[in-house]
Amino acid sequence: MAGLRWLFGELKGYGYTDTKDADGKTKPIEELIEILNEFRKKNGKLPVGEEYDGEQSFDVEGGKPEQRKRIAGALRLYAERRRGKNSNMSDNDLSYDKIITKKIEKVYGKKLSAMIAEKVASASPEIIALWCKYADRIKFSRLNLPNGKGFFDSKLKTISLCKDYDASPVAEFDKKSVRFEILFHEIGHLFDFKANERHGGLDYKSFSEDYGNGSFADALREETEEYLYKTHFHMKMSAECFERQTGHIQKEVLYEDVYKFVSDELRQMNFRSACDISDILESVTMHAIRGPAGHKDGYWKDHDIGTEAFASMFSASIVNPESLKQIQVYFPKAYGIFCEMLRRM
Ligand SMILES: [Zn+2]
Repeated sequence: MAGLRWLFGELKGYGYTDTKDADGKTKPIEELIEILNEFRKKNGKLPVGEEYDGEQSFDVEGGKPEQRKRIAGALRLYAERRRGKNSNMSDNDLSYDKIITKKIEKVYGKKLSAMIAEKVASASPEIIALWCKYADRIKFSRLNLPNGKGFFDSKLKTISLCKDYDASPVAEFDKKSVRFEILFHEIGHLFDFKANERHGGLDYKSFSEDYGNGSFADALREETEEYLYKTHFHMKMSAECFERQTGHIQKEVLYEDVYKFVSDELRQMNFRSACDISDILESVTMHAIRGPAGHKDGYWKDHDIGTEAFASMFSASIVNPESLKQIQVYFPKAYGIFCEMLRRM
């Protein structure tokens, strides 16, 4: 009962053990939420879910030799999958200028497309291999969207975004986004749909939606439910302890309170870390959870939560390690399926 011990210690810290409130009134649930939020602020998060301490494969600042080794491994993996074609590549052939950027270069120019290639080169071998497989199918529409917006047309299989904003360092400075994040998110969608096409799936469906009879979306749902259940449990335990220690009768902890608590928790996190898990939690709970980032009301009625999460995990894997870490903490099983899908696409 780690939660119980944790709360006793915590309440002591707040001076609740010996003292009672002068007015002796029932404490509103908001006060408890505040205490839990304070705890989260001090300790990073609630003691639910396991911390990810696996190997990080996204060392953007990684030294050149290390980077070359990784790219070499990735391209070899790619070559092997093409059953021997190109498999006689030597290590000298394998540098980030071998990452395919033809289609990107047409729209972004040489300098930016080299930067984009370097981002890809810093990702995991699976991402690099997938990139090499589908990068020559990237297609942009002629639309230029407003700042910070992106759109993938699943019928035409085209990407629209605000290229200038997304590619500018401003996107980094305002802490609201990450440079090239929208581009990689939309490319994630494109690869996902192209892969389904290639594997003989329905044209309007994505690989991640179809894979294992929807096992990816199922895992996202399961892990969200588990997280909410655990949070509910901890909040109920907290309320009981609170009652026992202060004598103040607590209101029943409802799921509504859990949604509110988790929403607040997400809003208090740094935006870059929270943006993708916020979107996923919102999608599974159909907007009952509202974090700092998400989609319009009604969006999730006709959009597959797995397809969206795939694009988010894809872009996080390339340009947002802070978010990727949270994805691995909150959705370890779904993330595992994501990695599995990368290898099979
Ligand atoms: Zn999307």
